[in-house]
Amino acid sequence: MDTRETLDLLARDAQYDLSCACGTKNNTDHRKRSENGSWLYPVTVPGGGTGVMLKTLMTNACANDCKYCPLRSNQDYKRIAVAPEKLAQFFIDIKDRQGLIGLFLSSGVLDTPDRTMERLIDTAEILRKVYRYRGYIHIKIIPGASQSAVERAVSLSSAVSLNIETPGIRHFSRLSEKKDYMRDIINPLKYLSSLTAKGSSYARVSKTTQFIVGASDETDQEIVTYLWGLYKRLQMDRIYFSAYQRGLGDNTIPGETISNSEPNAHLMREHRLYQTDFLVRTYGFTLEDFSFHQGALSLEKDPKQVWAEGHPEFFPVRLRYANRNELLRVPGLGPTLVSRIISARKQGSIKSLYDIKIPKHLASKASSYVIPE
Ligand code: SF4
Repeated sequence: MDTRETLDLLARDAQYDLSCACGTKNNTDHRKRSENGSWLYPVTVPGGGTGVMLKTLMTNACANDCKYCPLRSNQDYKRIAVAPEKLAQFFIDIKDRQGLIGLFLSSGVLDTPDRTMERLIDTAEILRKVYRYRGYIHIKIIPGASQSAVERAVSLSSAVSLNIETPGIRHFSRLSEKKDYMRDIINPLKYLSSLTAKGSSYARVSKTTQFIVGASDETDQEIVTYLWGLYKRLQMDRIYFSAYQRGLGDNTIPGETISNSEPNAHLMREHRLYQTDFLVRTYGFTLEDFSFHQGALSLEKDPKQVWAEGHPEFFPVRLRYANRNELLRVPGLGPTLVSRIISARKQGSIKSLYDIKIPKHLASKASSYVIPE
């Protein structure tokens, strides 16, 4: 099998990890590979817009037993691997032709976490030192990696990630018997956080993590509480969510057995969690601003709409005098439209939302929450 054929298979298996491809879109487009089914993935780039990245596993073999993952060790699966030298050379050969903005490297666990990290690190090292590649490299930290392996990966990367998977040890231990939540996930995440802290020599390296949604019986409230701690205490740059896809896992896990009348409920949960994450990162929402019914976010309404309906005393917001944070609480108004309102105010008065360039459906959503003066 040549490198291209090997990568076709390995990149197909990388599809279950969405850590660089998600957004707040209410559809599943961000899950798809490129139209010709290759290993190129559309990704959101820092600062907005999208680009295309080569995203692959180094191997689809895995010593672990994550019950939600089709690559877990007890599955009858054709196992293959690509050598670091071959992958690095392949990436260099195609990057300009394909207009790639970078490389996302992940892997199943070959033998031990550190031996697997070695292959990821070798690939990045060849790219940096032999090919003098200065562009984007994302390395997935393998659960249980040692501090020295984490530091070497960070030193070569533009971004790193380590998936937390579940909010807390109880859910985690239902999904894997081999991995240990504190030893393999939480302690390396804490180390990653200290290594890339503001003012440190690796502060430029962005760090992200991902929850799997719906494999255990975790609630949205548990996820959002952990999300808050991950941003506030561990200074994560981004948090991603990946809806558990039924049929891929062990049929003993809650995600397979919970009866659910809505087949896409996990996908809608994923979407609502992305909206929640966005409200925390960009709109100044805090943990207390979210409402849950028996631990669940509303599937019918977005969390900002739910907040607005629960706080009638906050409205109407005055278009002419409200500050940025107040305007951001209005359903239908996002950061771009709020900036337009503020700059329109500087240039003269603003009498209605239609004085700024605003799509009709957003204007009608926002109009009952604002008054001109
Ligand atoms: S560590 Fe778990 S999630 Fe990752 S490839 Fe192995 S079995 Fe799958």
